[in-house]
Amino acid sequence: MTIVDVRTPDPKKFIKGATGDWEIVIGMEVHAQVSSEAKLFSGASTEFGKDPNDNVSLVDAAMPGMLPVINEECVRQAIRTGLGLKADINLKSVFDRKNYFYPDLPQGYQISQFKQPIVGEGKILLDMSDEQVEIGVERLHLEQDAGKSLHDQHPTMSFVDLNRSGVALMEIVSKPDIRSSDEAKAYLGKLRTILRYLGTCDGNMDQGSMRADVNVSVRRPGGEFGTRCEIKNVNSIRFVGQAIEYEARRQVAILEDGGEIDQETRLFDAVKGETRSMRSKEEAHDYRYFPDPDLLPLEFTQTYVDELAQDLPELPDDKKNRFINDYGLTAYDADILVVERASADFFEEVAKGRDAKLAANWVINELFGRLNKEGKDLSESPVSAAQLGAIVDLIKEGVISGKIAKDLFEIVWTEGGDPAKIVEDRGMKQVTDLGAIEAIVDEIIAANPEKVEQAKAKPGLLGWFVGQVMKQSQGKANPQAVSDMLKQKIGLE
Ligand code: ADP
Ligand code: MG
Repeated sequence: MTIVDVRTPDPKKFIKGATGDWEIVIGMEVHAQVSSEAKLFSGASTEFGKDPNDNVSLVDAAMPGMLPVINEECVRQAIRTGLGLKADINLKSVFDRKNYFYPDLPQGYQISQFKQPIVGEGKILLDMSDEQVEIGVERLHLEQDAGKSLHDQHPTMSFVDLNRSGVALMEIVSKPDIRSSDEAKAYLGKLRTILRYLGTCDGNMDQGSMRADVNVSVRRPGGEFGTRCEIKNVNSIRFVGQAIEYEARRQVAILEDGGEIDQETRLFDAVKGETRSMRSKEEAHDYRYFPDPDLLPLEFTQTYVDELAQDLPELPDDKKNRFINDYGLTAYDADILVVERASADFFEEVAKGRDAKLAANWVINELFGRLNKEGKDLSESPVSAAQLGAIVDLIKEGVISGKIAKDLFEIVWTEGGDPAKIVEDRGMKQVTDLGAIEAIVDEIIAANPEKVEQAKAKPGLLGWFVGQVMKQSQGKANPQAVSDMLKQKIGLE
């Protein structure tokens, strides 16, 4: 691939070395398991967590004479993913054999795509805190996963589990456009969000349905690209960040010492937070790629692609823009809400026909904050969108104060129930009855004559009076009414 540098060096991202600044260059190869009930070339199930070798057909075990048959659903999902990445879809692509020997690869080759992948160039937009960055996608191709060797089950024997053998993967290769560990983490997060919106991969890194190979090199800012090392199979976003930070510093230390970087494949040790060599370029495989004679080239029509494009869901970037434009949300709030389709939908249900900013505030700060604290997922939320919407209504209509609303939220969270009825039954209504407020205001003023005198000279003390009245009313007095009345009685107007 010819590499064009599309980024302007940014000093904020440089690594300070003993001999000057260095810039990190990163490219990612992400393997994403296609959401499909059956494997890429066989009808065997892809269900996670089955006993070893439960999900194996004769094709997956590479029995002599068995032929692969392409699973149309996997092709459809790969095209949809390509469309979601705003990429070129190739109407004709070819499956190749990538030859190597390993006990968990009974065919002796992996069926992949080499020169003619199903999806060509695309892009992913990253919303970093102070800038928007576009990362180029080089390609997306379809390939089969291998099985798994189990070495820790028996003292002298290894076993092979072929459940994953033949499972469809999409390999999504980025251009080397990433310039920091934060961008790399954001790239992976955004890619996962897009895949989950599309429903083409569940993005569960802990179950191995999304894995990242991270290519890292360093160079003098804006200079020639350096020799890269590839860190294989990093399985969490946090580890991707740690692996890059470690690896870049390791390379800088070698270069500043007058050494050279060996192009090699490395592994990330999550316990030590280090990368270590797995194999060097000399040991690299010659995969002897050639078109698989058992499979015809993959061909489909533009009409088919257009139909899939028509049916694509609204994607996170569009949703974010709509939330900003239609609901007046800040980019920050919109970002939080669109990370998961479920949270965006939840917010829209709460916001429907209501004050959207107030709704966003309650969804993000109160609900998400509480879910986070208790380690719960939105799907497990004890407070429904309808209940949260009702709380927002009560605040907006002035029935309860913001402070009482938090108590109400607590009650709904722990006990459930209809918010309006709880407010009614437990006498939580905000007191807007001016007579009742006046009684308290008079009482507080009478009890604090010196403070009243001070407040006349120092109007900032008004807040103290408001606080006293609110306390006395157990948070139920309408703060605006209290403030207005105090100003008038103390004579601050
Ligand atoms: P290969 O075919 O050997 O895997 P590619 O050219 O396809 O190599 O690149 C693989 C990955 O490495 C891509 O994600 C690409 O962006 C990245 N990459 C290429 N050159 C560099 C470099 N100098 N530094 C960091 N990453 C790089
Ligand atoms: Mg590669």
